[in-house]
Amino acid sequence: MTGRVHIVGAGLAGLAAAVALLAKSQNGRNVSLYESTSQAGGRCRSFHDDRLGRVIDNGNHLMLSGNRALAKYLSRIGAVGRLDGPASARFDFYDYASRESWVLDLGSGVIPWSLMKGANRVPASGLSEYLAGLRTVWAGPKTSVEACLNRQTGGISSKMYERLWHPLATAILNTDPAEARAASLWPVFRQAFARGAKSCRPLIARESLSDALITPAIEYLQHRGATLHFQHRLVSVDCNGGRVQALSFKSHRVRVEPDDAVIFAVPPGMVSDMIGGMTSATLSDGAGPGTDEAEPGKMPSEYRPIINGHLVLPRKLDKLTIIGLTNALSQWIFVRGDLASVTISAAGPYMDLTSQHIAGRLWSEIVAVLGLGDVPLGAYRIIREKRATIAQTPSQEALRPPCLVPGAANLFLAGDWTATGLPATIEGAIQSGHVAAQAVVEMR
Ligand SMILES: Cc1cc2nc3c(=O)[nH]c(=O)nc-3n(C[C@H](O)[C@H](O)[C@H](O)COP(=O)(O)OP(=O)(O)OC[C@H]3O[C@@H](n4cnc5c(N)ncnc54)[C@H](O)[C@@H]3O)c2cc1C
Repeated sequence: MTGRVHIVGAGLAGLAAAVALLAKSQNGRNVSLYESTSQAGGRCRSFHDDRLGRVIDNGNHLMLSGNRALAKYLSRIGAVGRLDGPASARFDFYDYASRESWVLDLGSGVIPWSLMKGANRVPASGLSEYLAGLRTVWAGPKTSVEACLNRQTGGISSKMYERLWHPLATAILNTDPAEARAASLWPVFRQAFARGAKSCRPLIARESLSDALITPAIEYLQHRGATLHFQHRLVSVDCNGGRVQALSFKSHRVRVEPDDAVIFAVPPGMVSDMIGGMTSATLSDGAGPGTDEAEPGKMPSEYRPIINGHLVLPRKLDKLTIIGLTNALSQWIFVRGDLASVTISAAGPYMDLTSQHIAGRLWSEIVAVLGLGDVPLGAYRIIREKRATIAQTPSQEALRPPCLVPGAANLFLAGDWTATGLPATIEGAIQSGHVAAQAVVEMR
């Protein structure tokens, strides 16, 4: 087949799908990418901030060296060296209440022998407390992280939960561990921690998210002849006989030819609007595969926010720093040069605080962690992403749809919120793009 693939949405899922299709150039497929805003990247983007006088990211993004889909994507777009992180699988932590700091160091082998040494573990934690992560394998579909991994279930001290499982779960699932689905953690533990230290190195963008993950992809696509259409907001879809036949954007309409395919790599609300009534009415009634629990036609509709702060330091630090905090408003601090960037995931309770208040608290924590002494808060930017990810609760997880839309012969879904088997993360988004591209290739 030699038709065109129309990809709507130039976030990581849409970009990964486009890159994968063009990487398999023997498919002879043409790719058109449509994006409603004026830049690619979606929830993973960078922009120039005039107040800070530099390019900043919309939010800190932590990745792991074991993220396979990410590695494939980076290799295809020639951006492998654009991520950075510690040379080993080491996570630095700091407790703001007690001013204690510690390192979780998984060493360098398949078996984390380094944990035998107390200095490489959470203070006062026992080795068996690390094996508790395996409980997420057997966690029921409705079991929360807290019910699975907190002290009441026995064998794990409250400190271990507070200092390891709680911060990890909050970062991975962007949902309060009291309501987040425990089983959603296992795919990450399996992909990273269960495969040894080489898969557990924390990674961040060396310069910026766009520099590492977005610009090289755009260059790759342009070089391979894809057509990119920015400021193209999809407003409706024409379907008939189980096929998408046209895409209507604000300013014009694109005909979808019989051999063409369409990938929606947009947020779930947009997909609901486009195809909500379509699966039963306009499309044929052929059933497509779905997840066991997914309810046909229903999509995730609850989100959780992330707040990110960028605060300028009085001087440059030589060393790239990634540090997790407990008993603080800050959860992760990344330091690149003279900029400290701070994440607050599952940030619902803090969304109404003023930027000044948030910046003041973050600054007190940054100063303590970095040992900067008595220096006043300088320039800062607080960014609130209301819909950072879907809520990764049992009820919302059950609504994540598969890539194939039931009854639609030429329409596929991608996005971190689809049923990837992974949490809503960069790895999930890229993997969903790869799956959609493969489904298009196999389309008959
Ligand atoms: C602040 C923040 C911090 C995060 N931290 C991490 C982290 O540490 N690690 C991690 O792995 N993940 C993190 N994530 C999650 C990660 O950013 C997402 O999983 C990923 O970017 C999702 O990509 P996507 O392509 O699925 O969706 P999106 O990025 O949402 O892409 C969808 C695209 O579709 C476009 N669009 C929407 N409607 C239309 C329309 N009608 N027509 C055309 N285009 C349309 C949008 O503009 C957007 O570009 C974070 C997210 C945020 C917001």
